[in-house]
Amino acid sequence: MRLTGKTLLITAAAQGIGRASAIACAREGAQVIATDLQLEALERLQQEEPSIRIARLDVRDTAAVQLLAASLPTLDGLFNCAGYVHSGSILEVDEAGWDFSFDLNVKSMLRTIQAFLPGMLARAAQCGASGAILNMASMASSIKGFPNRAAYGASKAAVIGLTKAVAADVVKHGLRCNAICPGTVDTPSLRERIAAAPNPSQAEKDFIARQPMGRLAEVDDITPMVIYLLSDESRFVTGQAVLVDGGVTI
Ligand code: NAD
Repeated sequence: MRLTGKTLLITAAAQGIGRASAIACAREGAQVIATDLQLEALERLQQEEPSIRIARLDVRDTAAVQLLAASLPTLDGLFNCAGYVHSGSILEVDEAGWDFSFDLNVKSMLRTIQAFLPGMLARAAQCGASGAILNMASMASSIKGFPNRAAYGASKAAVIGLTKAVAADVVKHGLRCNAICPGTVDTPSLRERIAAAPNPSQAEKDFIARQPMGRLAEVDDITPMVIYLLSDESRFVTGQAVLVDGGVTI
C-alpha cells in the first residue's frame, strides 16, 4: 500500500477525477477526507468506500475552508481538484465568467493552501514529516491552447504558475507541490459539455478525434499519477506540471 498512514484531503471528490482519486487513495491505505459541494453524492461515495471521511466544502468560501482546516488533523497531502470548464473564445467570455473561472479554479487553491499548509510546515519542522500538495491543472493551460477555452486555459496556466511558486516556497521545508495536467477525461461534466453542444454526437467525435490514442481518458487513467504525486515515491519531484494526456501534446 503506497499511501499507508497518510491523511489526504481532496476537493471536488463527489464525482469525476476527484471521486475516483478518493477511492484509489483510500485503497492505497490513505485516510481520505473527501469534500465537495454535493453532500448526497459524497454520502454515496462513503457507502462505496466506508473508510473515507466526508465533509461538505465550498472551496469558494474562505471562512468554510478555514473552519474545516481547524477541525481536521494535519494533512500529509492536499489534492486541489475543484475546477470548472468555461466554454468560450476570448471574444465571448465576459468578466463574470472570467472571474468565476479564476475564483473556482485558482483562488480556491490559495484558500486551501493557506488553510492547510501552516500545519504541514509546523509538523515538517517538528519531525521532518513529508507532505505533498497536488493541484489540478490541465493540458489546456500554458502547455497548449484550445479554441473556446480562453478563461479555462488562462486559469489552468495560473494553476501551473501557482504550483511552481508554492513548490519554491516550501522546497527547503521538506514539502512538495506539483500540478497534474490531464487530457480529456470521461466525467459527468464532460458529458454535460457534450450534451450542451449544438450537435452532441459530433461534439463527442471531435473530443475523441483530438486524442491520438483514439479514445477519451477514463478516470482511472489519471488516478495512478495522483497516487504517485501524493506518495513518497515522488519524493524528488516538485514544481512540475505532469501531463497525463494520451499523447495530445506529443
Ligand atoms: P466534474 O467537473 O464532473 O466534477 C466537478 C466537481 O466539482 C463536482 O462534484 C462539483 O460538485 C465540484 N464543485 C464545483 N464547484 C465546487 C465548489 N465551489 N466547491 C467544491 N466543489 C465544487 O469533474 P472532472 O471533470 O473530473 O473535473 C475535475 C477537475 O479536473 C477540474 O478541475 C477540471 O478542470 C479538471 N480537468 C478535467 C478534465 C476532463 O476532461 N474532465 C481534463 C483536465 C482537467
